[in-house]
Amino acid sequence: MTEDMIPVHEKDPMPFNCCSENTCFNDCCRDLNQVLTPYDILRLKRNLGISSQAFLREYTSLHHGPGSGLPIVEFKPNPATGHECPFVTQKGCSVYEDRPGSCRLYPLARAIARDRETGKIEEYFALIEEPHCKGFGKKTDLTVRQWLIGQDVALHNQHNDKLMELISLKNKILPGKLEGAHSDQFYLALYDLDEFRTRIFDHDLLNKFDLPGSLLQTLKTDDEALMDFGIAWVKNMLFGIELNIKG
Ligand code: SF4
Ligand code: SF4
Repeated sequence: MTEDMIPVHEKDPMPFNCCSENTCFNDCCRDLNQVLTPYDILRLKRNLGISSQAFLREYTSLHHGPGSGLPIVEFKPNPATGHECPFVTQKGCSVYEDRPGSCRLYPLARAIARDRETGKIEEYFALIEEPHCKGFGKKTDLTVRQWLIGQDVALHNQHNDKLMELISLKNKILPGKLEGAHSDQFYLALYDLDEFRTRIFDHDLLNKFDLPGSLLQTLKTDDEALMDFGIAWVKNMLFGIELNIKG
């Protein structure tokens, strides 16, 4: 943790209030360096009613972790506006209902630890106090937990934790740089869901697996199920972990 990160407990009061009356309103959306998770992309492309390919092409840039080779997807800087988020407007966020998990959590940082025996996840939070943000020190009656519920971030956390588990498995089984086909498979199955679906149904990507019809039917229409399946497929392709093909 850095000096400006203050550990907080779920039951602590949340000394923070972001509202349109704050003089900094929208400032945090105009100077971004924001990494997007697969679930962020799923929600945003659905909000906009476009495919994952179109979303990735229009709004994101891709690079790879220098040590891990893992894909890193960020909002693409716009030459006209620099690092301004493409969805910020005078009135606030135009994709508010489907904004990314990191937008929901700010100004909290979240870390997790999984109990090895029970598999239960413990969450830890810290406040990141930044001078430009005038939301700090404003009185609210909310605890940290109540504030988090108001941000509706649980689903994002749940899906993002699956990504973190996959990354930590990769670092354990395949430490070092992921190259070529493996890196492409990771990107395809997690970030470019609609292309993954096209490869499954139009290009027989899964023809070596005997998948039940009910599972295939689900994968045709259910983005969340496809993303979970993509994680299992990546585990199979990269680490040889057997694919769970229950319908
Ligand atoms: S209070 Fe902080 S989070 Fe809210 S608009 Fe201002 S800078 Fe952004
Ligand atoms: S998605 Fe919305 S909340 Fe997040 S940075 Fe963009 S405008 Fe701000």
